[in-house]
Amino acid sequence: MRKPFICGNWKMNTDRAGAVALAKATAKTAAGVRGVEVGACPPAPYLEAVVAAAKGSPLVVGGQNMYFEREGAFTGEVAGPMLKDLGCRYVILGHSERRHVFGETDEVVAKKVRAAFAFGLVPILCVGELLEERDAGRTEEVVRRHVTSGFEGLAKGEARQVVVAYEPVWAIGTGRTATPRQAQEVHGFIRRLLADLYGADLAQAVRIQYGGSVKPENTADLMGAPDIDGALVGGASLKADGFAKIVAEGAKAKGL
Ligand code: PEP
Repeated sequence: MRKPFICGNWKMNTDRAGAVALAKATAKTAAGVRGVEVGACPPAPYLEAVVAAAKGSPLVVGGQNMYFEREGAFTGEVAGPMLKDLGCRYVILGHSERRHVFGETDEVVAKKVRAAFAFGLVPILCVGELLEERDAGRTEEVVRRHVTSGFEGLAKGEARQVVVAYEPVWAIGTGRTATPRQAQEVHGFIRRLLADLYGADLAQAVRIQYGGSVKPENTADLMGAPDIDGALVGGASLKADGFAKIVAEGAKAKGL
């Protein structure tokens, strides 16, 4: 049984006081639900304050990105060991904003995934197609490329732990959500792909989140789908009440 995982991606939002208040409220949400893992990925400068605010609660914290080198002359970058040192368990990698705004390639994302494990972090590997790729019937081709390159070189024990986030780029921050059927189709495809790569047992263990304009009103339908194991939530994770509703709806959808 895969434990559902609902995680907020705060992106480049909040200030220090706002981050602490949101972390405290989100920690209460995490403590109030059974059987669902709840996470928050704040901006890097507020990680320490958020980890402190979450202390004693089951809220897990992650970074939004990291560089693949351990340390060195990489101005402006954040290293995996720094995230680990601050108390992060997860790190989002290959988010579409990293791929499409900052030009991260599959190769760079793959290096980061391997580095995350080397530094004791669990990657949340984002995959997903652009609108023109979907319209051209290339969704599976793009998702296959993101998944196979993201998992390349991982030991089975690592592959099992990766959290995949299927995030169709056309649904991120646009208010346009994939229908549960569209999302389930791709989630099922990812699981079959993982079964081909690593066998059915491992594929059944990997958690696949959906991301893209998740909100309280659409969570139940999305998470009611059999291969949708949670959500990576951007905009709607910035409002504590709404995020709490998403968690409650997700738990209900999974019969928890
Ligand atoms: C995201 O940033 O991962 C995301 C899914 O954003 P939003 O929920 O705002 O679409």
